[in-house]
Amino acid sequence: MNWNTHLKAQSTRATQLYHNLLKIAGKSWGVPLIHRRILYKTVTERVLAHGAVAWCREPTVRIARKLSTIQRPFLLAISGTYRTTSTAALQVILGIPPLHLQLQREARGTALFRLRLPLSTNISDIDPSEIEEKATGWSTHPSEHLSPTQISLDDGGNINAGLRIYTDGSKTERGVGAAFCVLTDVNITHRWSTRLSLRNTVFQAEILALLKAVEHAVSLPTQQLTILVDNKASINSAANPKSHNSIARKIFKLLHSHPHIRVSWIKAHAGYIGNEEADRLAKEAAETENFPETPLELPKSFIKTFLRQKMLATWQMAWDDGDTGRLIHNIIPKVSLHPINWTRNEVLFFTGHGPFPSFLHRFNLAETSFCSCGEIGTPIHYATVCLLTTSYHMAPPSQQHQPIWFRRVANNSTSRRKIHNLLHFLQRETSLFRPDPNYMFFFVPSIVFSVESNAFVPFPHSWPTFY
Ligand SMILES: [Zn+2]
Repeated sequence: MNWNTHLKAQSTRATQLYHNLLKIAGKSWGVPLIHRRILYKTVTERVLAHGAVAWCREPTVRIARKLSTIQRPFLLAISGTYRTTSTAALQVILGIPPLHLQLQREARGTALFRLRLPLSTNISDIDPSEIEEKATGWSTHPSEHLSPTQISLDDGGNINAGLRIYTDGSKTERGVGAAFCVLTDVNITHRWSTRLSLRNTVFQAEILALLKAVEHAVSLPTQQLTILVDNKASINSAANPKSHNSIARKIFKLLHSHPHIRVSWIKAHAGYIGNEEADRLAKEAAETENFPETPLELPKSFIKTFLRQKMLATWQMAWDDGDTGRLIHNIIPKVSLHPINWTRNEVLFFTGHGPFPSFLHRFNLAETSFCSCGEIGTPIHYATVCLLTTSYHMAPPSQQHQPIWFRRVANNSTSRRKIHNLLHFLQRETSLFRPDPNYMFFFVPSIVFSVESNAFVPFPHSWPTFY
């Protein structure tokens, strides 16, 4: 019961997908990086996430490692970088979180939304029974609908006849508030407001205010009555018999059974007394700490944001504490779900895993770490001092300022352009930058023919050996 077989099957599946991706992804041709990334996110990751809730809610170290092995070839294929580039660096550059964290986030989402299972207590105290459920189907028979005159999306600021009820919702850093007030002629005759949890959205506040206004209207004797709302989204959901929002459905049913209640949009902050008063009441409720609160279901968006932030925090910790990809950590200290828009050449330069003798020598791909100009061929050597690349040079940093120099170059589009072109040049003129050892040995023979003595003599060691 350790999911070995499942992971093995997933891995086989992934290999197949990987080969498909390779077919369309060349280093300098084919599907662009950004589309390869989308393909991975929308196809591969979906396949791998299958049933994650069963096996990836609390991934073990072993599962995490296995998933990392599965993910790595894709990261390489998407970025088109050298096979030695660190996984952690590629994840941050591409904005793709470690696979086990991504799957864990989805597993937690499924557990909360679908299975209504709580998360472990050290992560969150969210009660799954308090999460807003998506309502589906028709709230009434499809033949029953609101009369066209009952809902208006034109500015109702000039409506002066009958009773008018103004609603508003407000969200500030300190809280969420909902309110309505009743205007008879020019006097405000009734006020209602409540505070919601900070976890609730401003939309929930708007729609709750509308519901309370409609309920109040229903309780009054039948008369000419208009509810004025400065938020088109809540009017649209209230008028939609197939809305997924349960409060909107309640409003629809009330409006349907009380056709004398009309709802109209009104322009906000246009000086209409009722609207200004509703706005003030909602803000007051949002800002006042111990204002009476109305408990409302948690919106899905709140949970989604929470799970995303949880994942980002775990990823950030791993990125800060990791021991690979430190050059990239210096430039991009903060992880994010958006790709850093670097070209392949820029990635090669900043990771240092590119066509540089220093790198090639380190991984036994070249005999020497020297550039043919005689100095060590590091990325910074080519970008600042090498005699062979003068047209791509930038001002060199002093030794201790190298990390700052890299950050500055990475954040400047002109410098990055230069780096891109430099790498293009390095890759085109490979032979220029690598002293070929075979070539050297071939031309340093043990004996030479001397014209003077008309015979072969031992090679004079005073000759430059690097010829
Ligand atoms: Zn050089």
